[in-house]
Amino acid sequence: MIYQRSSALFEEAYQYIPGGVNSPVRAFKSVGGVPIFMKSAKGAYLTDADERTYVDYINSWGPAILGHTHPEVLEAVKLQAEKGFSFGAPTELETEIAKFIIENVPNIDQIRMVSSGTEACMSAIRLARGYTGREKIIKFEGCYHGHSDSFLIKAGSGAATFGNPNSPGVTSGTAKDTLLAKYNDIEQVEDLFRHNQGEIAAIIVEPVAGNMGCVLPENSFIQNLRKVCDENGALLIFDEVMTGFRLAFGGAQELYNVKADIVCYGKVIGGGMPVGAFAARNEIMNCLAPKGAVYQAGTLSGNPLAMRAGLTTLQLIKNNPNFYEKLNKTTETLDFEIGKILNEKGIAHKINRKGSMMSVFFHTNRVSNFEEAADSNHALFNNFFHQLLAQGIYLPPSGYETWFISDAINETEIDKTLEAVRNFDYSDK
Ligand code: PLP
Repeated sequence: MIYQRSSALFEEAYQYIPGGVNSPVRAFKSVGGVPIFMKSAKGAYLTDADERTYVDYINSWGPAILGHTHPEVLEAVKLQAEKGFSFGAPTELETEIAKFIIENVPNIDQIRMVSSGTEACMSAIRLARGYTGREKIIKFEGCYHGHSDSFLIKAGSGAATFGNPNSPGVTSGTAKDTLLAKYNDIEQVEDLFRHNQGEIAAIIVEPVAGNMGCVLPENSFIQNLRKVCDENGALLIFDEVMTGFRLAFGGAQELYNVKADIVCYGKVIGGGMPVGAFAARNEIMNCLAPKGAVYQAGTLSGNPLAMRAGLTTLQLIKNNPNFYEKLNKTTETLDFEIGKILNEKGIAHKINRKGSMMSVFFHTNRVSNFEEAADSNHALFNNFFHQLLAQGIYLPPSGYETWFISDAINETEIDKTLEAVRNFDYSDK
């Protein structure tokens, strides 16, 4: 048994932690088998409890865009740790990272730091409601904005993987204020506005969706959302928790040249530490406590270790003029070469890719919304996942997730990955 130590650790964890994990997506519930317990990570590789190494395409679900434990980030965090872990008081460092982000991202004047993407999105809709005086929001089926109540309605990712997109515990009162539309379907959005005139505070969207697998906006979807919001006095919230600083330094706003009213961040901006943030123009952010009446707070918000790891990560990206070009080229190579091998094997597939996010779906149809993502042959994905895992390639353990490519993936790792795909025997169930 190649995962012996992981199995033992999982068995023990299962007694003390619900399902043995602290976040459901780690549980391998969809792909089956025992989740691999990791011990350390460096660059493109993870090492598990059985001393096996893996090329990592999860990268902590997005944050590790430079690869793991980048030496400069590590050094910066060590120096910061010596000065104290947390003060519960403002620090100069918080202003430094705020200024840096604001100067490099379109259309935001102020930013508030929190400790997770969930908090960022939850706070963003409260702010939108406070600013507009309206109660309803629109979200898209298959989009995930964290696990706050308003979003656990046809949420993608973990919720989709486990087949319970609507969570028990969310009150019907809360659920009724979340209106749903299909991703890429602007007519449904227009319909919702027609039937809820003057009631919709905001649309929240993943500008490139990563939580039903990687799904791209099509036919000027993002531009049309901007237009509909403007016509109806609603705010457009970009959930850039995955896409921020990953698709471009200015995120999807820069990439699609569309300005959002509120932007949510997480993952990359914490350099691997727990973080989230939301940002907007002055007139919106001024509604937030302590200046305004919309309340939002956090014991560890702006935590110095997270701020230092995040700022150092962002500076390293900014100072590398070829950063995105290389990252995108690596992803493009993986897309083309994996596609070629699967074609040679006669395996029906569709690869979606944007920047350094990609997913392999196992059917040939277009995948532009949750239903189409659900149509993929998920059993075949699970088989693919396990065969690659056994060969040292660590993919997200669900066909509803996006792969995150890091800067640490180079030719050696690409070759290893392609070799594993070449060895994929899809008749081997
Ligand atoms: N928004 C998006 C687009 C995400 O992908 C996630 C998490 O994966 C979140 C929000 C929630 O972030 P967190 O897990 O840090 O709470």
